[in-house]
Amino acid sequence: MSENMTYLKDEIYYSELYDKFTIEKCQHWEKSDNLSSLKDKDESVAKIKKDFFDKCVIPVSMYFLKGDRYEKKDETIKKWMDSDKAKDDKLENAIEPKGIRCLQCSSPEMTCISRDLMDDSNKKENVMFMFQCDKCGKRRAYWENGKEWEHKPTLCSKCNTEMQSSSNRKGEIITTIYSCPQCGNKDTDTFDSSVKKEPIDPNFEMNRKKYCLSREDGSEYIAQKGRMEEMKHIVDGWEEKKQNKELYDAIAKIKKLTIFELQNLLNPIFEKAGYVKLEFEKPELQKDVTLGFNLQDSKSGRSEWDSVHELQKLFKKVLADTNWRLMSDGVNYRLGFLTGRLRGVEGEENLRKLIEKDIKDKLQKNGKK
Ligand SMILES: [Zn+2]
Ligand SMILES: [Zn+2]
Repeated sequence: MSENMTYLKDEIYYSELYDKFTIEKCQHWEKSDNLSSLKDKDESVAKIKKDFFDKCVIPVSMYFLKGDRYEKKDETIKKWMDSDKAKDDKLENAIEPKGIRCLQCSSPEMTCISRDLMDDSNKKENVMFMFQCDKCGKRRAYWENGKEWEHKPTLCSKCNTEMQSSSNRKGEIITTIYSCPQCGNKDTDTFDSSVKKEPIDPNFEMNRKKYCLSREDGSEYIAQKGRMEEMKHIVDGWEEKKQNKELYDAIAKIKKLTIFELQNLLNPIFEKAGYVKLEFEKPELQKDVTLGFNLQDSKSGRSEWDSVHELQKLFKKVLADTNWRLMSDGVNYRLGFLTGRLRGVEGEENLRKLIEKDIKDKLQKNGKK
């Protein structure tokens, strides 16, 4: 790598690279016609399967694949360019280590001839500086943090001794010969240092037209996808409504009673059951309305337990389809004087919660049975 080589390239480069991957992906898909699931002992069945695959599965999959590739193109190119730009910045901003002397002749006149990004011993990309002695030409390499690059010895595959190496260059080809001083084992390694130009794919432009959506078609795909998602949202809404039919029906049926209406509802029913003089206290207005009540048991001979439980049962039954509930602290009884609290709910959201709790309690009770 030469010093002025930069990672960041023209946007066209990334755009073409992305399209190349898109073409490969699409062609891979189209070639998957040899799937085992398409095979069948019956030739006519196999033909139907193949027809269906060719005429339906592939076109639909291709529609979404092409659209998806288009949708992610700008974002992906930006990521690639940001990453290459970051590499350039890292190289440019790296600070050259100072005070390097030649290992051969101790001359302090070492010139930095290149800086490159390389993986260090921890596989982390770091900047490596190459210095060359102005006097004798010997080189030393340093990482940005001042640590000298360590040559890793090549060990003999037969006896594990460190091998000696010599390199020669013919044109762009560098050949290194390793030889073991212990057992005479030899190994060669060749490296082609020429910059390879990728051959031009003569079908590239044609395939690009076939598989890579234009701005216009791509925008149409994104709009179409948006419409489909909107549709799905609506259908999901219907599904949810259907699933919660019991809940919605119960909410629709609920009677929303004022305190006055509540009293009118309860009075005749309670009197008939032997509970009289129903009185409400001043309501506490919080998120819900809390309403203290008291009444008297007019049925002589009814025990405390019976009085309390019959009243609780009655409340439950009468209030079931209203927005009022007996609070969980229940009913108190002193010499036929009964007290307790009711809770009144307002607003659709709170009503929904109230009904949900009823349904849950019902399910739990059924589960216990
Ligand atoms: Zn030197
Ligand atoms: Zn050896």
